[in-house]
Amino acid sequence: MGEIESNIRTLREKIPASVQLVAVSKTRTLEEILEAYGAGQKVFGENRVQELLQKKDKLPGDIEWHLIGHLQTNKVKQVVPNVSVIESADSFRLIKFIDREASGTGISVSCLLQVHIAEEETKYGFAMEEIREMLDSPEWNEIRSVKIAGVMGMATFTDDASRVRSEFRRLKKCFDELKKDYFPSDDGFREISMGMSGDYSIAIEEGSTIVRIGSLIFGERIKKQ
Ligand SMILES: *Cc1c(COP(=O)(O)O)cnc(C)c1O
Repeated sequence: MGEIESNIRTLREKIPASVQLVAVSKTRTLEEILEAYGAGQKVFGENRVQELLQKKDKLPGDIEWHLIGHLQTNKVKQVVPNVSVIESADSFRLIKFIDREASGTGISVSCLLQVHIAEEETKYGFAMEEIREMLDSPEWNEIRSVKIAGVMGMATFTDDASRVRSEFRRLKKCFDELKKDYFPSDDGFREISMGMSGDYSIAIEEGSTIVRIGSLIFGERIKKQ
């Protein structure tokens, strides 16, 4: 058995069956991805649109692709027909673009709201208040073809496990509040995507339903991305 296959098996034993494993394949070769696919992995995550499209074109058609990195509005058109979930929906403006594109092609796109939970400064992600403003605004009622399937977040990159845990708790709380106030009878609003190679067990303890894991499957990335 190859190393990638054995890494996937080990992870599957550690992750509850109810938690979805997204194999983060950014910077990895087609051969590496095919080894993971051969081990039964069917869901992959990429953070760059061009890389995702190039790989998708050369890989089996039953792979589900999640976009997990910031999406620029000028790339929405290429992304919409090619992914099963956009995990990184991080502004109302972007969601409007996605909705317009999806309506035009007659499909519906599943998106997660990326929430800024880390204390460290990052450029992307909604504040909880911004999500409420969006969902309360009259314009929200015009959104037809975007399905909000839950939330996504990234904890601070740190060895401080208690800080990571409290950030994941913050995301779980966001999810619970949004569920209660805006999506109480929507079974489609159910995902909390949190947890990467270094912090996935804490994330699962705090209620994650999707973990996004790269290095633990494919090995350390040469270039940090
Ligand atoms: C790279 C990346 C991951 C996976 O990171 P690993 O530490 O390699 O598991 C998860 N989520 C996002 C958004 C990423 O960019």
